[in-house]
Amino acid sequence: MTLLTFRFAPSPNGELHLGHAYSALLNQKLANISGGRLLLRIEDIDTTRCTPEFEAGMIADLKWLGLDWEKPVRRQSEHFAEYGTVLERLIREELVYPAFMSRGEIRAFIADGEKRGRDWPRDPDGVPLYPPADKALSMKERKRRIAENAPFAWRLDVGAAMARAGRDLAWAEFSDGTLSTTRSVEARPQDWGDVIVARRDIPTSYHLAVVIDDALQGVSHVVRGQDLFSATGVQRLLQEILGLQPPAYFHHRLILGPDGRKLSKSFRDTGLAALRDAGASPEEVRRMIGL
Ligand code: GLU
Repeated sequence: MTLLTFRFAPSPNGELHLGHAYSALLNQKLANISGGRLLLRIEDIDTTRCTPEFEAGMIADLKWLGLDWEKPVRRQSEHFAEYGTVLERLIREELVYPAFMSRGEIRAFIADGEKRGRDWPRDPDGVPLYPPADKALSMKERKRRIAENAPFAWRLDVGAAMARAGRDLAWAEFSDGTLSTTRSVEARPQDWGDVIVARRDIPTSYHLAVVIDDALQGVSHVVRGQDLFSATGVQRLLQEILGLQPPAYFHHRLILGPDGRKLSKSFRDTGLAALRDAGASPEEVRRMIGL
C-alpha cells in the first residue's frame, strides 16, 4: 500500500502566524493518524519578496511547534528549469499566450466598457478578468513585441484548456476527521479567467509550480486553508491538461484575528515568533487554535 503523503507549503515572504500553525499542525496530525508522510515545501518563486531570513525564521518556528518533516526539503526557486520545460510544452500546445496589458491598461479597458453600462466579470477575489484582446494577436505581432522587450506574462487560455480537457472537472474534497469521507466539488476554472501561468523572467506561477510539485512529490492529500478553495478549480484544470494525477483536498477553516478578519503576515500580534518572544509555549499555541 502506498503511504498517504501530506505537505505544508509556506511562502517565505513574511513571518508565520497562527493560521500557518493550524495548517502545519493539522497536516502533521493527519499524517500521524494515517501513518503517512509529511513534507515541507518552500514556495519561494517570488524571488523579490521571499528571503533566506524569512525561510530560516519559518523553519525555526516550525521546529519550535514540534513539526517534523522529511528531508530534503524542496525549494521551488531551485527548480525553475523543470517548470520552464512544462511551460515550453504549454506554449507549444498553444494553451498559454503572452499577455501584454499593464494593470493600468486593464483598468482603462474595463472603465471604458463600464461607462457604457457593461459590467465586467470579476474573479472570486474581486479582481477583473483579463480582457481577451491579446489572444487575437498574430504570432508575428507577439514575436515582434517580445523581441522589443515589451513586458508580458504567460496566461492560460482557459477556454482552450477547458476544451482540451474535454469534460467537466471535479476534485475530491475530504473532511479532516475521516480521511475517507469525500465529496465531489465541481472545478470552475473559468471563474478566474485567463490566469497567469508564468512571468517573463520566472518560468512559473503559484498555480503551475504547485501542481507540478504536488504530482512530482506524490502528494496524495492537500490540506490547506479555505481561502484557496475555489483556486483549486484552476489547479485541477492544469493537472488535467498536463496529465498529472490529482490529489484529494481538504480546505480547512481559517483562523481569524481579533477583528474577525483573516490573518496576514504583517499582523504582528499573532505571529509565531512574537508569541514565542512573549513567553507562549507550543502547547498554548495549540490551545489557541483548537488543536
Ligand atoms: N504557498 C502558499 C501560501 O503560502 C500555499 C500553497 C498551497 O498550500 O497550495 O499561501
